Amino acid sequence: MPAPTSRTSHDTDATGDGPGAGAAAAPVGSAAEPAGSAGPVSRPGPIGSSGHFGLTGPGPTGRAVPNPARQASIRNANLALLYRLILDAPAPISRASLAAATGVTRATASTLADTLLEAGLITEVSPPPATGAGRPAAGLVPAAGGPAGLGLEINVDYLAACVVDLTGAVRSTVIRHGDQRDRAVSDVLADLAVLGADATAEAGLGIAGAAVAVPGLVENPHGRIRRAPNLAWQDFEIGAELRRVLPDTPFEPVIGNEADFAALAEAHAGPDTYVDSEARAVLGTQTADGAPGTASVEQPIPLTDFLYVSGEIGVGAGVILGRELFRGARGWAGEIGHITVEPDGALCRCGARGCLETVAGLEALHRDGPEAAAPGLGRAAAAAVNLLDLPAVVLGGVYARPEFAALVPGVRKALAEHVISARWAPVTVHVSRRGTAAAVTGAATAVVRRVHADPAAWMSAALTA
Ligand SMILES: [Zn+2]
Repeated sequence: MPAPTSRTSHDTDATGDGPGAGAAAAPVGSAAEPAGSAGPVSRPGPIGSSGHFGLTGPGPTGRAVPNPARQASIRNANLALLYRLILDAPAPISRASLAAATGVTRATASTLADTLLEAGLITEVSPPPATGAGRPAAGLVPAAGGPAGLGLEINVDYLAACVVDLTGAVRSTVIRHGDQRDRAVSDVLADLAVLGADATAEAGLGIAGAAVAVPGLVENPHGRIRRAPNLAWQDFEIGAELRRVLPDTPFEPVIGNEADFAALAEAHAGPDTYVDSEARAVLGTQTADGAPGTASVEQPIPLTDFLYVSGEIGVGAGVILGRELFRGARGWAGEIGHITVEPDGALCRCGARGCLETVAGLEALHRDGPEAAAPGLGRAAAAAVNLLDLPAVVLGGVYARPEFAALVPGVRKALAEHVISARWAPVTVHVSRRGTAAAVTGAATAVVRRVHADPAAWMSAALTA
């Protein structure tokens, strides 16, 4: 039996251009039921009163043939719902169980499952040995060999690529260190494409699409970067160049903010990746004196609501609410690096003074040490926590490095002092499990989640690719 590890659990597309939240979870009305006639429906799952989702033509009552477009959308929604059940199941799930969980006939559940099998999105595993009467059924699981997500990251001092498969497992990660400032954008993208090809070859999987993490404000997911101050990029359109240098994939490449992707990776990390040996040393309990605790305090994962703060040359943040990324009205939420922590402080690259970046960015950390950076970082995090009522803060990027472990008690102390509700409900501080690879892993995860959320859209894109 395959180990059901590191399976992701979610239902929306984080890249912002896929189907909306809940697409996979909302039951869909039957094509055979006129609008407004349905009473309360007690049955969970996809609703097709005929049990055939309108695919078999006029029903026995002689009603008009349903609209084909509506039939297709009902079928697609039911495919997504069935796929969601398979993804979320803690163990291989049988066709009969899928039928029972959704309320459709076993034949219909089987047909939908076959569609997912043929598309390579799930696979069938042998049943466990029989323990009682009856023949045990084969179980369905997400296909580890199915279409994977390619994550790519451009950061100030490194480039990275990562492949995540449909089970949520990281299959390859390639990081190349080197200063990217003052390089031509086309040169950076060409190097990124080479790294992506390396990671893809290592993983040995077909790629559904790529998502690119950048340290800046992304105007739209298809390619416009409004501003990446630490790369000195301003109003840059990279979508066309990306499509030129990357191989063709069913989904077009998208771009997003690195801290947002990193936060997403944290929200959907599997249990097997929760605490690495480095993070384990600094992950702490909430003790009265603010001292770090011991390795025995690994928190249950995944966290569902938290502020993720990513330290690099710049400082970014992602806000996760209910395991979903809070993007803000234009997708620009999370610019914690430019919260003012010292009104008369040093000039920031953004043009303002005393931004968090000037006291807790990587250069300041190297110059003044983590003890000096922690109070400002904690105050900025406290402002976000007070505003949004977040129970946890995750420190990522370079903040997860053991050399900066002294940040944790200082941040914890500042949160205790500045969060109004902290005396009743202390804010927990965690160190990222993924460190520097968080953003690129999250980018790859975002592609996989897009396949998960709408398998029919992926099939259609794969047909025309
Ligand atoms: Zn600034």
